[in-house]
Amino acid sequence: MKYTQELCPVIKKEQLNRTTFSFTVASETAVQNMKPGQFANILVEGKTLRRPISICGFSREEGTIRFVFEIRGEGTQILSEMSEGQRMDILAPLGNGFDIDPAEKAVFVGGGIGVPPLLGASAPYGENATVLLGFRSKEAVILADEFRGNGADVRIATDDGSLGHHGFVTQLLAARLDEAPCDVIYACGPKPMLRLTAAEAEKRGIRCMVSLEERMGCGIGACLVCACKTRTSDGGEKYLHVCKNGPVFDSREVIWE
Ligand SMILES: Cc1cc2nc3c(=O)[nH]c(=O)nc-3n(C[C@H](O)[C@H](O)[C@H](O)COP(=O)(O)OP(=O)(O)OC[C@H]3O[C@@H](n4cnc5c(N)ncnc54)[C@H](O)[C@@H]3O)c2cc1C
Repeated sequence: MKYTQELCPVIKKEQLNRTTFSFTVASETAVQNMKPGQFANILVEGKTLRRPISICGFSREEGTIRFVFEIRGEGTQILSEMSEGQRMDILAPLGNGFDIDPAEKAVFVGGGIGVPPLLGASAPYGENATVLLGFRSKEAVILADEFRGNGADVRIATDDGSLGHHGFVTQLLAARLDEAPCDVIYACGPKPMLRLTAAEAEKRGIRCMVSLEERMGCGIGACLVCACKTRTSDGGEKYLHVCKNGPVFDSREVIWE
């Protein structure tokens, strides 16, 4: 895992909805060996522990990295108050990321604030991507037009029925897979959504990669906070670390508890 610590000037800040922000920062070093699905551990002023935030997108040519995050607690509140021109202290790129092959037909399943890393991962697939997005309500929807702008077939589900399908995004997944096969499924979102996505993929024999979110301490595999129980090839069990061995896992490896 080759990561660097970098002080990245904020070059663009946008508010996507009441609680969600998009920050684009300039990067010279961290961006160089970055992959979709990896994350950065971001220093928050006044806090000891960094906050893990996924890489929503990046451009090596332009030297930019984009983060999209929701205010969940004090740390993300403080981060959201940063202004353009201030420097964000990041440790990146961390984790393994998605292995992508844009020649394949891929279905991306995102729930809530699990959606941002799928934007960068799905972009190279263009029309080969079907993107299924689940949110609480219409007000919570983020990034849908950007996925569409990349050529993806985008379908939305909301819990309250205020936009798109009234129900779970995993119901959209079953319907999409009934229509036509795909080669691979990538998913990021709440654990119950990931568990149902993994079950649907397994039932149909489709490869499925899930990005897990666990509370993290160091983000580099030293503190062992973010352990996740996995299955070994000989039928045994072992603990891996979401920050170092993940956050992306083959869904068949994960023991859902
Ligand atoms: C690999 C990974 C990628 C993530 N990507 C995104 C993203 O792209 N956008 C986004 O909005 N959120 C993302 N999260 C969740 C984000 O890290 C938490 O919402 C954030 O750390 C909460 O910090 P806080 O201080 O606002 O909240 P508090 O609850 O006050 O945090 C207190 C402590 O718990 C830790 N913590 C709290 N919730 C989480 C969590 N869900 N995961 C890990 N640590 C947590 C914090 O780091 C901090 O140490 C990601 C988490 C992981 C593990």
